[in-house]
Formats: sequence, structure tokens, C-alpha cells
Amino acid sequence: MVAPRLRFAPSPTGFLHVGGARSALYNWLTARRTGGAFVLRIEDTDDERNREEWVDDLADALRWLGLDWDEYYRQSSRGDLYAAAARQLEESGHTYWCECTREAIDARAKERGGPPGYDGFCRDRDLGPGDGRVVRFRTPREGATVVPDVVRGNPSFENSTIEDFVLVRSNGKAMFILANAVDDGDMRMTHVVRGEEHLPNTPKYLLLWDALGYGEHPVFAHLPLLVNEKRQKLSKRRDPVAVEQYREEGYLPDVMVNFLALIGWGPGDGREKLTREELIAEFRLEDVGSSPGFFDVAKLRSFNGDAIRALSAADFVAAALPFLERAPWSDRLDRTTFERIAPLVQERVAVLSEVVPMVDFLFLDEPEIEQASWDKTMKGDAAGVLDGVLAAYESVTWEPDALKDALTAVGEAAGLKLAKAQAPVRVAVTGRTVGPPLFESLEVLGRDRVLARLRAARSRL
Ligand code: GLU
Repeated sequence: MVAPRLRFAPSPTGFLHVGGARSALYNWLTARRTGGAFVLRIEDTDDERNREEWVDDLADALRWLGLDWDEYYRQSSRGDLYAAAARQLEESGHTYWCECTREAIDARAKERGGPPGYDGFCRDRDLGPGDGRVVRFRTPREGATVVPDVVRGNPSFENSTIEDFVLVRSNGKAMFILANAVDDGDMRMTHVVRGEEHLPNTPKYLLLWDALGYGEHPVFAHLPLLVNEKRQKLSKRRDPVAVEQYREEGYLPDVMVNFLALIGWGPGDGREKLTREELIAEFRLEDVGSSPGFFDVAKLRSFNGDAIRALSAADFVAAALPFLERAPWSDRLDRTTFERIAPLVQERVAVLSEVVPMVDFLFLDEPEIEQASWDKTMKGDAAGVLDGVLAAYESVTWEPDALKDALTAVGEAAGLKLAKAQAPVRVAVTGRTVGPPLFESLEVLGRDRVLARLRAARSRL
């Protein structure tokens, strides 16, 4: 058996779509299990829409996911190969020149009263090359083309329903379908795993494949599209679809990989948490389902929180630091101080970007007071509580239990439960009603700064 060869063939669009990431992953898992090759091929033939940094970003996002590639190609530097394939097809009589304009094609379709599309007008006119002319494929009028697809169950397409499609534009450039099929043939791809939006064009691809004599067809897996919780197709306007966004928010790459693998596939016994090694060993294209895949952000978030809690303290600090280093107050960030509070924060975040607002009070001169939190807590008994705590905290032993006992006593004197009494203190010191446990936070912040903040809040009342 020949060693499998698989590829991810993105067109750069400025970001890596999560659906694309899933295609890349399924290719990569299959290649890694079988000892085959995983090829990254950038389909960058559309000059107008290409920017060099988009290509770099795409590669970065794949690297972040840990999807390493064995070979790398750019379609933009392979134009000669597509031109040679077009010549070969012309010589073997598989193509012809066509001079019909879009308007002429549409007008004839209207006259016919049939469906829009090209009617084969120039098929037997024996035209040569010329200004404004395109090269079309001479699609067989009989027979059917079967797409060998492990997800879709080998759908068959009548060739008579496939129009004579364009292979080379009037400016001499290859169409997507030609470059795509020629590259897969030239690169000896054994599998084509990609989004289902490509399925309708696959019979054309296979007709080209045969006309070019590439031999045995690759095995296809056209993956169902991804939908949100309302069962709508993921859209970049409505849903967060860029892998980069998830990286920025602080999802862990291993969690992302685990989660993407499980959209439309599972190990069969209901396990949901799989390591990369387990995924490589167990993933099978044949077991991918054909119904739309639910991109369940809530589940992703919960997986991520679990994975964050499972990190060692040192790994959590290392994972969180890049997020803290991007904070506006990063020049005042102190690693030792963060390490003291980190285990308490680790228990309370689902994504790493949430660490920043939980610890900023430790590094800012004054806490950033959230207005809603202030309005909710700084009323009624708040002034009395702050006065009482200010007096008690002057001399209390500076450790969590003593700080808690002192505040409990202040609260009891005012007839308040601890939770109620603690709220204005938390807002005065951290600026928010939510955060890491209060008394540990006070301990780390230190007596002088805590007293200064309590006084400042009291005077604002
Ligand atoms: N370049 C195509 C795209 O980004 C994918 C082509 C393929 O995987 O065959 O949608």
C-alpha cells in the first residue's frame, strides 16, 4: 500500500475559520496515525484577495494548534504546472476555446427558458485562442461520475447535468478547479478531506483527474458544515469563527483540538476528554457523521475551565503570564505577587483572559472601580462597615483567618451576615463584586494598601 498523503488547502482570508481548522485536524490526525504525509498547500491564486500577512497568520494559527506539516506549497508559484495541464488537455481534445460573454450566455438561457448556465455554444466551433476567450472542459454527455466519499456514501452525479466549465480565464489564469485537481494529482494525494461546500464541484474535479490520467481516485471525506446553537450555519458576522479569537481569549490549544475533533466524531464509548495521542490513535474518517456539527461554545468553555484547573500551578502561571503581559498595567506586574494569588484564580476562570481583571487590583495604584458594583454595594450599612473594618484592620494580625474574624465581628455588630458585610470591602479594595477569595486577596495586597483603599472609598461615600 502506498503511504497516505493528505493535505489542508486553505485560501487565505485573513483568519483560520474553525471549520477549516477542523478539516486541517482531521487530515492531520489521519496522516499521523497512518505514518502518511500532511501537506499544507496555500491556495493563493486570487491576487486581489491575497495579503502576505494572511498567509503568515494562517500558518501561525496552525502551529498554535500543534498541526505541523511535512510539506509546504504555494499555488501562486505553480502557475506553469496549471498551464502545462491546460495544454495537455487541449492536445488530448478535452477542451475548447469559447468566446461567449456572460451576457450572451444569460440571454440564451433566458430565451431557452431553462436553467441558467452555459449551453455548449462554442463546443463544436473549433475556435482558437484570442482576446477575451476562455478554455472550457468538454464534459461527457453520457454516464455518471461517482464521488468515493466515506462520509457521504459515494454520491453519483449525471454527467449530462454538468456544464462545460471554464478551466482557464481570458487573462490566461487557471480557475480554482483546475489548480485544485492538478495539485492533488501532481502531489499524489490519496485523501481529500474538506468542507461539504466543495462536494458539488467534485465530479468536475474527477473528470479532470481522469482526463489528466492521474489514475486511482483519492478517497474523499466531505465534512458537514458547522452550526451554532440555533442550528444556523456559523457566520463570521454573527459567531466567533476565527481560531485566532479563541487563542486571544485564552483557550488552550489542546482543548481546542479535543473539542474540534469531537464535532461530528466520537470514540464510540461516550468519552469526551481525549489527549492528542488518543485522538491520533482512535480517530477514523469513516466514523465522521454526515449531519451538521454543533459548534457548542458553552461546552468548549467548560472543557477549557476543566483543563485550566487540571494544570500544575507552575503551568498555570506560565500560561497566564502572556495575558498579564499584555495588560495596560503590565509594567507594574510582579511575578511573585501573581504566583501568590494564582492558585485561587486558577479555580475561578474558564479562559485565561479572565485572569487579568481578577488580579489587576494587585498591580494598579488604585483599583478600577466598576460603577455597577459600587452602586450595588456602597449604600445602607456600607459606611458603618467600612468604619468598623478600618478600625479593626489597623492592628489585626495580617493573615486570612484573622482578617475574616475581624470582619465577621464588624458585621455582627451591625446585624449583617458575612457575605453582606464583605461586599463593600471587596468593592473598595478590588473595584468589583467578583474576584478571588477576599481575605487571601487582602493578605497579598498588604495592610497599607488595603487601609488606603478603604479610606478612599469611605471618603467617597
Ligand atoms: N481552497 C479551498 C478553500 O479554502 C479548499 C480546497 C480543498 O480543500 O480542496 O475552501
